[in-house]
This record gives sequence, C-alpha cells and structure tokens, in this order.
Amino acid sequence: MVSTKDFEHRPQVGKRLTLDFINTEGEERNGPPDWLESYSDVVRWCAAEGLLTADQTADVLAEASERPGAADEVFDRVIKLREGLFRILRSLRQGKAPVGEDLAILDRELSAAMANLKFTPSGDRFEWRFGGGEHELDRVLWPIVRDAADLLSSDVLERVEECDGDNCTWLFVDTSRNHSRRWCTMGDCGNRAKARRYYQRHKRSASTTP
Ligand SMILES: [Zn+2]
Repeated sequence: MVSTKDFEHRPQVGKRLTLDFINTEGEERNGPPDWLESYSDVVRWCAAEGLLTADQTADVLAEASERPGAADEVFDRVIKLREGLFRILRSLRQGKAPVGEDLAILDRELSAAMANLKFTPSGDRFEWRFGGGEHELDRVLWPIVRDAADLLSSDVLERVEECDGDNCTWLFVDTSRNHSRRWCTMGDCGNRAKARRYYQRHKRSASTTP
C-alpha cells in the first residue's frame, strides 16, 4: 500500500531525529492521527528525513511488496521502539529508572543496528557508515536507534522537554538560552494556552463585576 501522506510537511518540532521520530505519533490537529501506520509510511518518513537514499527507498519498498509479512514485522518493531523510547525519556525526565522491558527493546534494536555499522575509509579519514544489504527491511531502524543511543548518552538529554499543551505529548530539545521553552510550537500549543489564560482572566473579571 502506497502512503498518501505528505511527508514533506511532517512535524519537525523536536530538533532531534529521535524526538521527531517519537513525535510521529501525531496529535489530530497536527495532521494525520499517526504518521506511521504502515511499513511504507516508515520508509517515506525516513526518506524525507534523509535517512535513506532514493535507491535504498526504492529497494526496500520493492522488497516490502514482495515480503509483506516481513515488512509488517519490521513495522511492529518500529512502533515498539517508538513507544519504548517515549517511555524511557519520560522516566528519565521524572527521575525514575526506565523499565526493563523498554531497555530490552532498545538493547535489541541497538545490537541489530551496530552489527551493520562499518568503519569505512572516506576521503582522507574514516567514518561510521551503515552497510548491510540494500534490501534489508530493518535498515529503517538503524539510524534512528543509533541517534537515540547518542542522545541518551549526551548532555542534550537534560534539555529534552515535553510540551505543556493540553493533550500534547510532543518532545523537543529546548535550545532557548534560559531553558524557558514550554510548548512544541508557539503557533499551536503556545497560542492555545495564551487564549485559554486570556479567557480565564476575562471570565474571572466578568464574574466579579457587580
Ligand atoms: Zn504541543
């Protein structure tokens, strides 16, 4: 099934691959209820993020149409990872230890990704690059889980915030100088919060008027 979603206009408020990945579980007002509803969605989201080349995108989509069962299995892993990462980040933000089940998901995907990471000469130096067969369906997971591991082991983690908006659980890196960003987007959750405060103030002053 070919996705009809406009991945060029996917949410990008996270300022970090891992967070934008988690945020694909969109709020209704921000586009489709969920940006990732099939393996094909995942491939197109990854392509839009620059994680797959045009050739790799075509290869994995062709492979997925030949092996739909295997593609569905990878899709399940993608969603498990997305949920596991969200819970791990929420636990850490609340000062709690992440649960073992979520760590096991991360561990498993990280092992699979690392097994495909190659240390390769590139110009006058070396770089880490994902090898593996071009047709490997789970290559969509590798760069995401690698970024997640980098994030979880870096100082940036302290700047990961969850939106204060009602019913909004989007995560973002707060890059403001005084750590004061509260909403995923000012134009969306921020404005709604302002409108609500204005309304409440107005209501209060109206009710105290004799
Ligand atoms: Zn929000």
